[in-house]
Amino acid sequence: MPTDTIAAIATAPGRGGVGVVRVSGRALADLIAAIAGRGLLPRQATRVDFLDAAGHAIDSGLALYFPGPNSYTGEDVVEWQGHGGPVILQLLLARCLDLGARLAEPGEFTRRAFENGKLDLAQAEAVADLIDAATATAARSAVRSLQGEFSGEIHRLVGELTELRALTEATLDFPDEEIDFLQSADAFGRLDRLRQRLEAVFARAQQGKLLQSGASVVLVGQPNVGKSSLLNRLAGDELAIVTPIAGTTRDAVRSHLQLDGVPINIIDTAGLRETDDEVEQIGIERSWREIERADLALLLADAQHGLGAAEQAILDRLPPELPRLLIINKIDLAGLPAGRRNATEPPGTAAQDGGDSRRADLPFLAGARLFLSAKTGEGIDALRREILAIIGWNASEDIFIARERHLRALHDAASHIDLAHAQLPRLELFAEELRLAQQRLGSITGEVSADDLLGEIFGRFCIGK
Ligand code: GDP
Ligand code: ZN
Repeated sequence: MPTDTIAAIATAPGRGGVGVVRVSGRALADLIAAIAGRGLLPRQATRVDFLDAAGHAIDSGLALYFPGPNSYTGEDVVEWQGHGGPVILQLLLARCLDLGARLAEPGEFTRRAFENGKLDLAQAEAVADLIDAATATAARSAVRSLQGEFSGEIHRLVGELTELRALTEATLDFPDEEIDFLQSADAFGRLDRLRQRLEAVFARAQQGKLLQSGASVVLVGQPNVGKSSLLNRLAGDELAIVTPIAGTTRDAVRSHLQLDGVPINIIDTAGLRETDDEVEQIGIERSWREIERADLALLLADAQHGLGAAEQAILDRLPPELPRLLIINKIDLAGLPAGRRNATEPPGTAAQDGGDSRRADLPFLAGARLFLSAKTGEGIDALRREILAIIGWNASEDIFIARERHLRALHDAASHIDLAHAQLPRLELFAEELRLAQQRLGSITGEVSADDLLGEIFGRFCIGK
């Protein structure tokens, strides 16, 4: 456990009304006395001058002192709230460093909170996910995880596993009664209920993962079919409240929007052209790597031309396993009705065709799923619903944010429970599978966690958190 004092500017870089320098350590009385020129009462805002080594004021602001263990990190914490200018904050930070603190690493405050038992690992991750939340829905679900809803579910599962393990161990000491155990303790029944519970938690976590990392959608189609128009339509008013992720704002290839609160990252392949510009080339290569991992490709075609060889050539360039949705745009020009059609049905037979006979006469539209107009907006809601269905979103109120790491652990735990089931009535092997299931669940909340995992998780935080 580290004992040194850490300090960092906790507010975002740049200028703002207020800026905060945060300090955490085992004993901060001397540092506080040096900067504030006096002691501070716990948990009270005190107006002070922040003094430099010569006793001159660097700034005048508020000091907040939280003696450990009742603080964010569990150690003594002091927050200096000054004016939000980069020079002032740097001077204030330098003063803390002069007084023996060292610069905090990214996420180090939260890592200390975890190590001092103030937060478990899933809650600590939720802190970062809350700060990074791309939509209001994602933020709400991160708060739910931060308040311990996800961890609570995990603890209940672990509790049931612990009980079942204890029963099994007790029976192993009395080998003659093994069959009794299986019946009286209802091992099969318990295991089945546990499995169902795990399934439900997995489904919720899967939704949370969608809110955490968003879905990635590739937009493809010939020039002028209406890709940019469709993007603008999909973004609608929502674009205004979606915060661009740092570093991608000048990237013309990517757009960020939200559908029903789910962050959607759209890559417009129109921008992925051959180029001699090295920087652009790097961006394009990165986009193609992203396409490999995308969740969905939207192929757009013009109703006046339909799907032809050019569209086929585009489809052939996409990763074969990437789900794709064939969309006919500009129905307003072709006089076609909007809506969704099942691609397996012969053209013109589906009810949603609206009985339009012309469509049946257009064989080149076979295979298209959605008919819409980016210009008039007709059919756009159906597209939104279709995208959400394909990426697996079921809007619900009780989602907690989750990460890929959690999904893997839940999945592994489920496999061990299935293996445990298959081992009955061999109790030693049964018990071992239960132990492994419990271990995987415990990794979510950090009951057992390797140092490199912690480094990976906290290293992605911003400095000062
Ligand atoms: P992109 O090259 O695929 O991005 O296509 P754009 O979005 O730039 O659209 C090309 C042209 O088609 C523009 O003049 C758009 O206004 C027009 N357009 C796009 N969608 C529609 C539509 O649904 N109906 C009509 N009538 N015109 C459209
Ligand atoms: Zn375009």
